[in-house]
Amino acid sequence: MGHYCRLCGRTRANEKFTGKGHQTHVCRDCAKMPKEACNAIEWEAEIFGFLKQSHISDKNVRRLQTLSGSGDARIAELALIVIEVAKVKPYKRRRLKMLARERGDLLEALEKTGLIEAHHC
Ligand SMILES: [Zn+2]
Repeated sequence: MGHYCRLCGRTRANEKFTGKGHQTHVCRDCAKMPKEACNAIEWEAEIFGFLKQSHISDKNVRRLQTLSGSGDARIAELALIVIEVAKVKPYKRRRLKMLARERGDLLEALEKTGLIEAHHC
């Protein structure tokens, strides 16, 4: 039986986790990462999570606005794209079709950044 690491997403052997790591679901390797990289992974997961939701709320958008001010360029970019998606089509239903029709640029941004994957699961 392994244990799930929420940062790298792998299920790893129990010995790859410290006692504290078990509680926080962070494996030894990820625990050694610099804090910035660690935050970025969490923020990215958070941004993907918003796209997976059936609806991106105003509260989510405020959170995205905070993330768009992140010092991490990729996180800021992802956040800005999702803010734009939320403006155009906050509901997930038919979102990709609608974007394909009206906002090809935004759809392309979702594809380029990999954010589109959030729509496939
Ligand atoms: Zn890990």
